[in-house]
Amino acid sequence: MLNSSEILYKKYKDARDAAWNTLILFNVDKLPVSVGVIFKKLGITVGKYSNKEMPIAIKRSDLAETALLQRAFTVYSDNNPLVFYNEATPISELRFSLAHELGHLLLSHSPSHWNQNAPTRKSIEIDANRFAVRLLSPACVLKEMNITDKNEIAKLCGLPLSEAGERAKRLKALAKRNLFLKSELEKQVLEQFYPILPYSSNNSDKSPESTLPSSLKSNGETPDSP
Ligand SMILES: [Zn+2]
Repeated sequence: MLNSSEILYKKYKDARDAAWNTLILFNVDKLPVSVGVIFKKLGITVGKYSNKEMPIAIKRSDLAETALLQRAFTVYSDNNPLVFYNEATPISELRFSLAHELGHLLLSHSPSHWNQNAPTRKSIEIDANRFAVRLLSPACVLKEMNITDKNEIAKLCGLPLSEAGERAKRLKALAKRNLFLKSELEKQVLEQFYPILPYSSNNSDKSPESTLPSSLKSNGETPDSP
């Protein structure tokens, strides 16, 4: 049986790995990440609303009264998720909010947990945020691009400044403990982003292979090697 710190670590790891898997599965190779494209590939409809126009699916849901206070949320129609965003939301916050909703869906958070009063509500919100920030600002990519400042992170990843500030702190902590590229999944993410990494443009005499970080050079192992 897992003890409580092991359970917390597992929850963190699940959200982190889901973000990496999503980047890999949907072939994301540039920043800012387009969350709209991922929803489209998943076949999930994303609609907007405003105080002038409230879609019927929202009117029918128990969120009708509070919709204008929210940035985005998911409702279910015949078991199909429909994601809605408030048209008044600034773009960086909207990107984060949509990534957060995607996190709920891909981490299989059941709608019954979304009730404000459900005991699990706080913890699934934390997990959805963890997923969102890791999807939108993959640490290994920022490190390879030498991006450490919160303003640069906000600009490059299209993140709200508050989230970018947290990400900057996290990058510092990861660097201090040398925790980058410890996972095969993270290595795959970095390889996928190779076109936007700064290596080869200034080193045209070097082949891409010779300019990859040593941890990514092919060593004959498959990604599934132990
Ligand atoms: Zn949420």
